[in-house]
Order: sequence, then C-alpha cells, then structure tokens
Amino acid sequence: MFIEQSPRGYDRNGEQVVRRARFLILVSLGMERAERTCTLCNGTKQIPFKPDAIDMEGRIRPCYNCAPIECTTCERKGYLYDEASGKPAETCAPCKGSGYLGPSGIETYYHHHKEIRALVRKVAMHQCGQFMMGSARAFGHRIGLSGSYGGDGLTVTVSREIFDKAIPIPAELHEAWNKGGGHNSAGSEAYAMRDWALANLDKLESTYKGRKR
Ligand SMILES: [Zn+2]
Ligand SMILES: [Zn+2]
Repeated sequence: MFIEQSPRGYDRNGEQVVRRARFLILVSLGMERAERTCTLCNGTKQIPFKPDAIDMEGRIRPCYNCAPIECTTCERKGYLYDEASGKPAETCAPCKGSGYLGPSGIETYYHHHKEIRALVRKVAMHQCGQFMMGSARAFGHRIGLSGSYGGDGLTVTVSREIFDKAIPIPAELHEAWNKGGGHNSAGSEAYAMRDWALANLDKLESTYKGRKR
C-alpha cells in the first residue's frame, strides 16, 4: 500500500504507472514444511493390523503415514549401475529394489504461519493486465509485488531471512487486518495501517538493524 502521495500517470502504451513512492509491504512466512513425530504410529514405525481380521491378529505392519527413509546406497533408484557399461546392473540389496528402507517414525506436515510483519520500501508500479505490479529490494533480495499490500491485498510470502528482519505489526493492527475484509484492495484497516507505518518509518525503512538506507 502506498503510504505517501504517489504520482500516477500513463506510459506510451496507455498503461497506468505509479512512480517511486514509499510502499508498505506486509510479509509472512506462509506455509512452511515441517516435521514431527508420526501421529499415527507415535514414532514406533509400526501399526497393528485391524483386529477384525482374525488370521492377522497380533501382526504388525510398517506405518504408511511416516515419511519413508530413502535408500542412499542406490539413491532411491532401486538398482545399481554397472561401472563399465553405465547400465542398471543389479537390484539394490539394502532396499530390495524399492528405493526405500521403511518408515522413519517422522511425518512431514505444513505449518501455516499467521504472524504478519512489515517493511517499507520505495516502489514503482506499472499496470500488467488488470493488476498493478512492481518489485522491491529488501535485505539483498527482490520481492515481487502486486496489489495493495504486495500480495493482492494479502501478505507476500517471503523467506525466513527476510521475515526475521521485518518489523512485527502491533496486535491491534493484526486484528484489524483480520477483520478488514480487504481482498483485492486494502480493507477498513487501511488508514490505521498507514498511520502506524508513517509513525514507524525509521524502523520500517532500515535495511539493517539501526542503520538507515
Ligand atoms: Zn508412522
Ligand atoms: Zn537401495
């Protein structure tokens, strides 16, 4: 969201452009892949057969919910190459040709990070179809932007490297943001958000701790 007057105009092709002005970018970590102890087998890597199958009672099988351990001997291929011909020669013994060594007791899941942080950079935007697009540089990285906060009214997903250096927004702004109802444009929280950004420009514009650009 532009937080200061941004001169608007049209380029030679009649597309709208916005010249460089201070832009509030809201960032989040979005979805992050994480690991935890398998919730089905509790890390035992095994689960019992269903007890209603009488002949299988008491037997156990490998847990299917765990992430499988990849075979490093064959690098998951299941066979080994013949050095001389370069062709697949023999079935990999450790994994018996499957490429995997069984369950790991660990499951992978996606953790949705809800925390929002902010930074301010000078941004120019140009029309691209029906969207306004631009980009900003932050901490040595380029962030692609579109729409009111950079992500079409939503936050921009960034790496942890950028996120850790961005500035946390106050709890009441976060709440207003959740209720704002902004989708393709900023919602009712827009004025409060801009006022906070203007009052905290020093922090929001600094590229490194305590040092201004
Ligand atoms: Zn498991
Ligand atoms: Zn193998």
